[in-house]
Amino acid sequence: KLYNVVQDLKGNIRVYCRVRPFLGGQPSHYSSVGSVEDGSISIITPSKNGKEGKKTFTFNRAFAPTATQGEVFQDTQPLIRSVLDGYNVCIFAYGQTGSGKTFTMSGPDDLNEETIGVNYRALGDLFYLSEQRKDTISYEISVQMLEIYNEQVRDLLTTDEIRNSSLNGINVPDANLVPVSCTSDVINLMNLGHKNRAVGSTAMNDRSSRSHSCLTVHVQGKNLTSGSTIRGSMHLVDLAGSERADKTEATGDRLKEAQHINKSLSALGDVISSLAQKSPHVPYRNSKLTQLLQDSLGGQAKTLMFVHISPEPEALGETLSTLKFAERVS
Ligand code: ADP
Ligand code: MG
Repeated sequence: KLYNVVQDLKGNIRVYCRVRPFLGGQPSHYSSVGSVEDGSISIITPSKNGKEGKKTFTFNRAFAPTATQGEVFQDTQPLIRSVLDGYNVCIFAYGQTGSGKTFTMSGPDDLNEETIGVNYRALGDLFYLSEQRKDTISYEISVQMLEIYNEQVRDLLTTDEIRNSSLNGINVPDANLVPVSCTSDVINLMNLGHKNRAVGSTAMNDRSSRSHSCLTVHVQGKNLTSGSTIRGSMHLVDLAGSERADKTEATGDRLKEAQHINKSLSALGDVISSLAQKSPHVPYRNSKLTQLLQDSLGGQAKTLMFVHISPEPEALGETLSTLKFAERVS
């Protein structure tokens, strides 16, 4: 296990793939995911001559539909712990709507100790470790929650009207930064954030799948002996659904939303793939999302992309385009 951890901390960009199980009540029919082992996933593709095709994709980790929230978190933990040592970390959930992004990051609607997702576990872990280190380092932890919808940034932790200020020359809300000291503080804030997020969406318009939500955790630690301070941050981003717009024949507002999503997801892909290739030019300025996260993408910062796929054969087209995205950024 130690060997894994050391390996984990070597590169700055890693890609994990998680396959959603068939959902309750769904007949367990033919799956387009053949096998999941040793970081590889094979996808079964129908072919014309009656023979099945097989395409294999490899990741830093691959999680089968049976993987638990705890198992997924275990492989994420070293990254999260590095935040207390002053690293900046970005964790993204990518995939088509319904593939399990929110499940991985937050959990299902009925949250309990077993079903809670990465964000609650991450904060719990930060509290636990900071408590353990309290005789040598005094940590302060605070959180922000933002939403990016149609290239506009909104603060989810306020019910006030949103004011905009400027950060690196772009408009961002004067977002609330709220100190937290225990898991229940975090749960209360997330509930407020989710309530605020629902505002402005109608029944026809499930905005949560067409906006990015970003939970940011800021950590500041003061060494009690030397007086020196360390700062780290973690961005936990539940991205908008990656499904292609043209298929839904979107028009009007929906088309505009879809164009904004396509633009920002491909801008994110461009940034991560140029970081992976150590390209001298990283195109941060092509979307609000990458502008906002600029300081936490690249340099010493660590990035983890969770790509999610659905097992249903009907989703095959989207699954393959998700896996192509994953290949491009790894
Ligand atoms: P997304 O956020 O990508 O649109 P969700 O996370 O909302 O997708 O997942 C869609 C549905 O599938 C939800 O009902 C969710 O609870 C369920 N689901 C997703 N992933 C899993 C999983 N690994 N195990 C069990 N149920 C899951
Ligand atoms: Mg979701």
